[in-house]
Amino acid sequence: MKPDLKALNSQELTSLMKEFGEPLFRAQQLARWMHKEGVANFADMSNLPSSLHGLLAERYSLAQSVIKRTATSPSDGATKHLLSLNDGDHIEMVFLPAEEHGTLCISTQVGCALGCSFCATAGMGFRRNLSAGEILDQLRLALGEHGQESIRNLVLMGMGEPLLNLSAVVPALGWARELFSIGRRRIAVSTVGIPEGMRRLADSGLGVRLALSLNAPSDELRSRLMPINQKHPIKEVLAGLVEYSRITGERSTIEYVLLGGVNDRSQEAEGMLALTRTIPCKINLIAYNPCPGLPFNQPTKDTIDAFFQILLAGPNTVTVRQSRGADIFGACGQLSARTPC
Ligand code: SF4
Repeated sequence: MKPDLKALNSQELTSLMKEFGEPLFRAQQLARWMHKEGVANFADMSNLPSSLHGLLAERYSLAQSVIKRTATSPSDGATKHLLSLNDGDHIEMVFLPAEEHGTLCISTQVGCALGCSFCATAGMGFRRNLSAGEILDQLRLALGEHGQESIRNLVLMGMGEPLLNLSAVVPALGWARELFSIGRRRIAVSTVGIPEGMRRLADSGLGVRLALSLNAPSDELRSRLMPINQKHPIKEVLAGLVEYSRITGERSTIEYVLLGGVNDRSQEAEGMLALTRTIPCKINLIAYNPCPGLPFNQPTKDTIDAFFQILLAGPNTVTVRQSRGADIFGACGQLSARTPC
């Protein structure tokens, strides 16, 4: 099996063109054909010399993802797409339309190894990392489906932990900025908080927004909900978040999924208030979206409001995110590539 040319980053493509004795602008031409036009054959890259078509075809393949199934929420218009990858694996992405420009939520891994107890993706286990091409294919395919002007915001909040696949995520986001003109502030990477990954992402120079999925104010509770907390406890991940903001100059977000009767009481809200008082950030509260087979419930409206009111006493902006796509299992924490699409 030949390696996938779409997995290469900008520098690697440029080096390849050098090796083939081609002018360096060929790297940019190639990137446009692969990632923007989505051509499946080198011979279709009409502004490249046929000698280069031959050299590329000898050494590389062009992996193609396709949309296999689509479901649109009748209540809020969120659209979930099930994608089939070259090797037959599946991932999901969700398009959230808006009056002007919408948001695309994409995946970075097939499944996930981290086993958060409230997340449907965890039930798939970890199958593999996506390549840069497979991450970017989601954006290209979504633009093809929903219109070339339809997406202005890109969020890496679908299946997988982006910071455990940075060697593909960083080049993919580089291409997203360069080829699709997505502004860095319109890209958000969501993470459970992998300190080394936060540092690497900050050092990448992409300057994208970071969202830390915290979900509990104490290590005891967080470790029950998110096993990764045993390796990287709250103090460590918050320090990583602060460092990320310091390096990038960007205010980060802390996300808190409210699980009815589990982490939504006033004592947790007070704990969050104390924990975040000295950290400049935005706090995003998200009501849990039920998933078949998972033992959690949605919090009540009153509980959400009480939690919100307690956090308002702190210095940070607090919002309650309205989840969309829950009726098609396309909302936060519901992606599993198995649910009806
Ligand atoms: S919440 Fe994110 S990190 Fe946790 S299991 Fe789900 S996909 Fe993985």
